[in-house]
Amino acid sequence: MISSFKPRARTLMGPGPSDVNPRILEALGRTTIGHLDPQFIEMMDQTKQLLQYAFQTENELTLPVSAPGSAGMEACFVNLLEPGDKAIVCINGVFGTRMVENVKRCGATAVTVEDDWGKPVDPEKVEAALKANPDAKVLCFVHAETSTGARSDAKTLAALAQQHGCLTIVDTVTSLGGVELRVDEWGLDAVYSGTQKCLSCTPGLSPVTFSEKAADAIRNRKTPVQSWFLDMNLVMGYWGGGAKRAYHHTAPINALYGLHEALVILQEEGLEKAWARHAAMHKSLAAGLEALGIGFVVDAEYRLPQLNAVTIPEGIDDAAVRAKLLSDYDLEIGAGLGALAGKVWRIGLMGHSANAENVSLCLNALESVLVEMGQPVEKGAANKAASAA
Ligand SMILES: *Cc1c(COP(=O)(O)O)cnc(C)c1O
Repeated sequence: MISSFKPRARTLMGPGPSDVNPRILEALGRTTIGHLDPQFIEMMDQTKQLLQYAFQTENELTLPVSAPGSAGMEACFVNLLEPGDKAIVCINGVFGTRMVENVKRCGATAVTVEDDWGKPVDPEKVEAALKANPDAKVLCFVHAETSTGARSDAKTLAALAQQHGCLTIVDTVTSLGGVELRVDEWGLDAVYSGTQKCLSCTPGLSPVTFSEKAADAIRNRKTPVQSWFLDMNLVMGYWGGGAKRAYHHTAPINALYGLHEALVILQEEGLEKAWARHAAMHKSLAAGLEALGIGFVVDAEYRLPQLNAVTIPEGIDDAAVRAKLLSDYDLEIGAGLGALAGKVWRIGLMGHSANAENVSLCLNALESVLVEMGQPVEKGAANKAASAA
């Protein structure tokens, strides 16, 4: 007989999922009600308002897609692009390359703008691509590239797109709730995110928001969206508000309780305060890591506080360290992805995980493991530096 699954608790300091606030776990276990129950509909309306706050937008078309961040990504692409369209896609890490895959599968053409991994998207290259491709319909870029820890200047990139009459598709999976993001002020058009990064909710939902311009483009398509499930024209029949909500798919009821709670927690703390907390925890972690002789992949100016990609010291076995952190300290940090696999660790300080206890645990654990592996580091130096910062 197989018995119930009861995992050991871990401290999650990787690229997501992050530590889930116990309040959210409690919310997930509340009684399941129907997806058209008036109580549930009230909760959906509140969730929409809370998402508008998190995204800093008044967009009507703001909702959580019932699937993980990758589905939010796909929702933006399949709704905005039609066969024969052209998209300019910025690539400076793994998630930019996934955008290109999405463009191709929509039957559209991708013009790529490439930057080295670890660098932000270069606005000058983007401007040149917009000039060279006046027929491009959308500019696509990742705000917070989780594979490298680099932050791109979404405000500047969106302004360039507007000057050239282009819509934008922006990946904010790792930025939402962790660093400044202002959808309306910056004029972003189709924006997707995830729940398990800086919102510290369980994985499986993808908040999205579409500007009026993007919503118009979706309404006026020449061809139907090739994905029935992700077609926003249909999804809006359920999420659209008002009295006439129709069944589209059964909403993940309890998962949405969790997201609602996560957004209530964000609202209680305040968005700006949450951004400041991520920045402060990063500063402290970075000082500690530097004391351990561990350097960053990204220049200080462009570093994401919530995703610290750091270089693995010479001669240290990547997988052995991560395995030891997990077995001896119940601590998960992330491995490198794509071109950075085996070369870096990705230490997350996302949402609920961005706290002083986690910073201290991570530095102590890493220090002990490195000492055991013969690295010349001074005991206690990391936490001293972290506290000083
Ligand atoms: C995690 C992540 C995704 C994918 O989200 P999933 O929930 O894993 O599907 C997309 N883009 C970025 C930048 C991410 O960090």
